[in-house]
Amino acid sequence: MKDLYVRAESQEILKGLNLTINPGEIHIVMGPNGAGKSTLAHSILNNSSYQKDNGEVAFEGEDITNLKTDEIARKGIFMSFQAPEEIPGVSVFNFLKYAKNKMTGEAVRFFALKNELKGYMEQLDMNQTYIDRDLNVDFSGGEKKKNEILQMLVLNPKLAILDETDSGLDVDAIRTVSKGIQMYKNEENAVLIITHNAKILENLKVDYVHILVDGKIVKTGTRDLANEIEKEGYGKYKLE
Ligand code: ADP
Ligand code: MG
Repeated sequence: MKDLYVRAESQEILKGLNLTINPGEIHIVMGPNGAGKSTLAHSILNNSSYQKDNGEVAFEGEDITNLKTDEIARKGIFMSFQAPEEIPGVSVFNFLKYAKNKMTGEAVRFFALKNELKGYMEQLDMNQTYIDRDLNVDFSGGEKKKNEILQMLVLNPKLAILDETDSGLDVDAIRTVSKGIQMYKNEENAVLIITHNAKILENLKVDYVHILVDGKIVKTGTRDLANEIEKEGYGKYKLE
């Protein structure tokens, strides 16, 4: 992302944002409520609720600033929502089967996918009967977030953006989400984790921590910066 300015309606949200993520890296974005973290995630996927006034988003050397969301997703960018939608009438299984087919362009075999899901769901400590339930309908907060991680594992994107996937989860669920990220992560793909919680970083090899305040990255550091924020808050960065 280069010099990105984004607004929703008349409100300016991102004000000159620069961020580069290389293959193999894990980046963390932290920042106070309303700083523009979710907007950053939505802007990469070019959500049409947001308008880009200036700047560029490029992926693997290609300008994707104005591509449609589904085109961007097909290039291998995945986003886990801060508040996952409930979709009545679409089962978890059918949703994943359809999405995987659209991502790979290949027919998805019923039993192969069932087996794949079974393996992931065991690791994520998810009840396997859930694959026949309607997507996210009456799922608890934690179950919705785990279901997002399940999607990430099945779709195996090149870049995964996780918007507060750990928010509102108990410590065991955070550990499970973190385990899911470790299962997914390799030297070729990358993760952007938006979080308030240094806990999720514990078992991950984090390359960079960025502090986003008022639509700009005001500081970049490593894991220590996340620990500092957890102890001291954003106060001193808000003043700058
Ligand atoms: P964060 O995720 O860091 O808490 P957001 O990116 O969700 O912050 O929001 C940043 C600011 O932009 C907030 O003040 C929010 O109210 C506003 N905003 C976000 N999305 C919209 C939208 N679609 N329409 C109007 N205002 C929005
Ligand atoms: Mg947000």
